[in-house]
Amino acid sequence: MNIPSLLQQQRAYFKTQQTKDVSFRINVLKKLKQEIVSREQDVYSALKKDFNKSSFEAFMSEYGIVLSELNLAIKKLKSWSKPKRVKPSMLTFPATDYIYKEPYGTVLVIAPWNYPFLLAIEPLIMAISAGNTVIVKPSELTIHTSQLVTEIIQTVFNKQHATSIEGGIPVATELLEQKWDYIFFTGSVPVGKIVAKAAAKHLTPVTLELGGKSPCIVDETINLKLAAKRIVWGKFFNGGQTCISPDYIIAHTSIKKELINALKKEIINAYGENPKSSKDFPRIINERNANRLKDMLEDANIVYGGEHSIEECYIAPTLVDNPSLNSKLMQDEIFGPILPILTYADEAAIGDIISNYDKPLSLYVFSKNKQFTNNIIKNYSFGGGAVNDPLIHFGNHKLPFGGVGASGIGAYHGKHGFDTFSHHKSISKRGTWFDPPVRYAPYKGKIGLLKKMFKWFG
Ligand code: NAD
Repeated sequence: MNIPSLLQQQRAYFKTQQTKDVSFRINVLKKLKQEIVSREQDVYSALKKDFNKSSFEAFMSEYGIVLSELNLAIKKLKSWSKPKRVKPSMLTFPATDYIYKEPYGTVLVIAPWNYPFLLAIEPLIMAISAGNTVIVKPSELTIHTSQLVTEIIQTVFNKQHATSIEGGIPVATELLEQKWDYIFFTGSVPVGKIVAKAAAKHLTPVTLELGGKSPCIVDETINLKLAAKRIVWGKFFNGGQTCISPDYIIAHTSIKKELINALKKEIINAYGENPKSSKDFPRIINERNANRLKDMLEDANIVYGGEHSIEECYIAPTLVDNPSLNSKLMQDEIFGPILPILTYADEAAIGDIISNYDKPLSLYVFSKNKQFTNNIIKNYSFGGGAVNDPLIHFGNHKLPFGGVGASGIGAYHGKHGFDTFSHHKSISKRGTWFDPPVRYAPYKGKIGLLKKMFKWFG
């Protein structure tokens, strides 16, 4: 694949103005929907082959979300793309002022492996909705799903409009050497920095959907059975390979023992005594990552789980009691089914732990104490989060999803996704029937009137 020539073709196609036609966009989104619906079973089987993901999780966290984002875009695109009228200001009056949503042009989407269908197709939907041309680079680690993503895109779009280029670091590097109008990257913090550097060379705007160590705080007021059930679901969903999964727990010292017992029970309820034989428990994506996780368990105080089989990419759901902040487990994002449990006695101790890390992508707090939860929400900076449940904020397209600081730049989902891929172009359409002389030189004697006008318009 000759990347510069393909990009050239996309640029030329964008210049034809065809992608700016909203009906054209809606039609192509409908075609995309038809193709995706017809490949539903293929999505499940590709994800199963790639890392033993169950059809249930595949529907809930990938296929189902893609379909609802597509339905939303098809239904709302006309209204999203209409110029939005805003009130004129003292300086623009008399005028009708508008915000136009304009496509950036040629967009690059780079996707990770952990939700390989969702995180390649959802940005594509939003970039196409906004009227851009798109090149998607899916992850090289999920070969079956990435091939399916390519097939779907190539069936629906002509390559000047959208295409998928598969490959690893060399392909991603070549793509990043080109000049894009927008880059949308989902992946790790170190690669996010490489993307930001490449984008900076051409001053290309970026969205970076990254990761981090997302804490989950559990206080002494909460119903521990329900909290444990929800935490086990959120932590071990997708085998713990979720950017917003609770990375570690900070529990009130008085309930730690009880919480650990409740977590053990819920792991057994979900995956049985031998999670390896559970159809619902995914595998680690590859041996390299399984080994990385195994190394994190060296010297750890494992209170549940810990079994592993590297050649089968299996790491059991594992609980670790009170690891030191200097341990391997507490250095980087875990990104696997290992859950460390730390403790706090007073609120200041929570800050002592969280402030060791960059701003996380998510934060969860389990508590019945409103003041406590509000303090946590107010005191710490994080991408987004939830009270009394993990992951769930991801499921509302009205909530912008993204990080802050090292966990990312920008956000998307639903209309926020459409807005992310659109330049907001401000246009003031001035009337000619009234032309107050105050702004024109000579200015002598006019400042008093100008001050009054600023006051009137607020
Ligand atoms: P990754 O950063 O290794 O890879 C992501 C993409 O970047 C892949 O397509 C890969 O081919 C490409 N890439 C890898 N190295 C590159 C390089 N040197 N130069 C250019 N491109 C390169 O991430 P991953 O392992 O696929 O995914 C896991 C990470 O993604 C975790 O940190 C997780 O938190 C994060 N993540 C974030 C979100 C989010 O929405 N914020 C969602 C999923 C995953």
